Amino acid sequence: MKLFANKILLSDGWACDQTLTIENGVIADITSGFVDGAERAKGVVIPGMVNCHSHAFQRAFAGFSEQGSEGKDSFWTWRSIMYKFLEQLSSEDAEVIATQLYIEMLKMGYTRVAEFHYLHHDINGENHEDLSAMAQAIFSAAKQSGIGLTLLPVLYRFSGFGAQQPNTGQKRFINSVEQFNSLVSDCFEIAGSQTNSNVGIAPHSLRAVDKSSLSAAVTHVRSLDPQAPVHIHIAEQQKEVDDCLAHYGQRPVQWLLDNADLDKHWCLIHATHIDKQERKGIIASEAIAGICPTTEANLGDGIFPTDEFLIDEGTFAIGSDSHISVNPIEELRWLEYAQRLSKQQRALLATSEQKSVGLNLWQRAALGGAQSTNSNTGELAIGKQADLLVLDDSQLRLFAHDDDHLLDSVIFASQQNLVGDVMVHGEWTIREGKHALEQGSADKFAQLLSRLSA
Ligand SMILES: [Zn+2]
Repeated sequence: MKLFANKILLSDGWACDQTLTIENGVIADITSGFVDGAERAKGVVIPGMVNCHSHAFQRAFAGFSEQGSEGKDSFWTWRSIMYKFLEQLSSEDAEVIATQLYIEMLKMGYTRVAEFHYLHHDINGENHEDLSAMAQAIFSAAKQSGIGLTLLPVLYRFSGFGAQQPNTGQKRFINSVEQFNSLVSDCFEIAGSQTNSNVGIAPHSLRAVDKSSLSAAVTHVRSLDPQAPVHIHIAEQQKEVDDCLAHYGQRPVQWLLDNADLDKHWCLIHATHIDKQERKGIIASEAIAGICPTTEANLGDGIFPTDEFLIDEGTFAIGSDSHISVNPIEELRWLEYAQRLSKQQRALLATSEQKSVGLNLWQRAALGGAQSTNSNTGELAIGKQADLLVLDDSQLRLFAHDDDHLLDSVIFASQQNLVGDVMVHGEWTIREGKHALEQGSADKFAQLLSRLSA
């Protein structure tokens, strides 16, 4: 197919009057001017956003954990409520939730998601007859919605540093390394038969894996794909840092830098609590910082030093994690706002080469997201996958929208969803803000939600 855009954000900047030729989901050519037979985009075209961190089932939990108990609430009390909640979910439920979530993601401009998938076993904690039953639910949801998927099965072995036995709330997550590696192999097979999907792994955290299981899992996945993404929750909470110091005598990121062979396909989720040496170490390793600003705010995690990290040219990606918000614009807005509030300054995430905070953040987050999923996405150029958004012109004209200001308006000034059409891998998944399956999906999801409690 051919798509003509009056205005488009290409990898080397804004361009006017361009026709993309899209073949097999990839941009095969870009020509100046209108080419006969091209469809006309109804607005400004920008690259789709990659969501580097999702726990799909938590979408159904959003809103269930906002009640206070005399100032005693924390990440850890939230986690206990979340564990109780997930005990009710079958693989059919997981598919209903993920399908609804992925449709919502597409509507807001996420075109690919890295699913950090740790709900493996049945309600009693027993293996499903087919080990990958829950993973299949995620693959199916991605297929139905049309979103690109990077599935990251989670290795979860222990409840705390020093190989502490898992607690009952964790019974659905636990696998031996052998069983986990077999699940990963099964997922590679499924991804092989599903368009626009790939597989990596996610050792859950340094709390949940020890050095030998981490190394065995990475070795196995890299034998299947030398560039497979490896994601890990690393330093979300101060308690995690303290426990790591007590056990290993090192902070978590420093321990990881010293004990694992990090590369550009590693993504450190919630590298929230890092010191200067760790920051420099992440950047030298070329690993990505996976930041989830709205979840980190919601859970009271802390603030990642984004300003310093970007000054040192670190690579980052954004994720919606707990799905308390499913909106890349809100993630990027809060990425900048957290810096402004803590430093009492403005426009901190711009650079001398790119003075527009909005443009800088959108492009860098999309490219970082592409790297974190080892996918051929994140920018619009010949040879890249056609994952793109068409922003609604009728709304953009109400804000500053020249080249230098357009993405600033989108991120900081828009009050409603600007995404009109969404293309993933060359196929339209959202047209004029709607997904073909959205009504049926919403009905099933609402029915499920009325059955659940927290
Ligand atoms: Zn997470």
